[in-house]
Amino acid sequence: MIKDEDIILIDDPRLTSADKLYLPQVVMGLKTTFRHLFKKKLTVQYPEQRRAMRTETYRGVHRLNRDEQGRVACVACFMCQTACPANCIHIVGAEAPWPDREKYPVKFDIDELRCIYCGMCEEACPVDAIELTPEYSLVGGSREEMIFDREKLLEMFDRTRDIKPRKNPRITGYPVGGPIPRTGVQTPTGGPGA
Ligand code: SF4
Ligand code: SF4
Repeated sequence: MIKDEDIILIDDPRLTSADKLYLPQVVMGLKTTFRHLFKKKLTVQYPEQRRAMRTETYRGVHRLNRDEQGRVACVACFMCQTACPANCIHIVGAEAPWPDREKYPVKFDIDELRCIYCGMCEEACPVDAIELTPEYSLVGGSREEMIFDREKLLEMFDRTRDIKPRKNPRITGYPVGGPIPRTGVQTPTGGPGA
């Protein structure tokens, strides 16, 4: 129950004769317009003109990174799915066919329409497998089209790896520039990330 002393009554502001003509407000508005007339223009004619993005910090469409052997780097630990505040990541993990990890994602979907591009998923990932790219021009004809699956996310890595190299491949523990010694387990033909 709200007490009477907690209620604040606000009176209508008293307007002078000039205020009632709205002239001061119009003059103030015009002052702002003229001030900006001679400043450097910030508007660009998108999409013909595009601004240079700060690729290292911009948070656009996701990608799933590949490791040095071209395989999906994700180890299906579910950390990103757990950290995501918008509940837009859905992963199905399975036993990995490779000797250097236990699991990999057989399904990895991100709903780009639900995403708020907060970057929590890439912060949570222990193996630098999920990243947000500088790609912001995202359109789709249907909601289904905007759910990016594993293949689409890997394709996004292939498209953006030159403009935004993978952050820190060394944290994955994989040797840089050399294959991982195999211990008898073969990569299936046409397998994930192939
Ligand atoms: S950027 Fe944020 S909201 Fe989008 S998938 Fe990652 S954690 Fe979820
Ligand atoms: S992308 Fe990273 S955090 Fe998400 S499941 Fe894969 S390894 Fe874990």
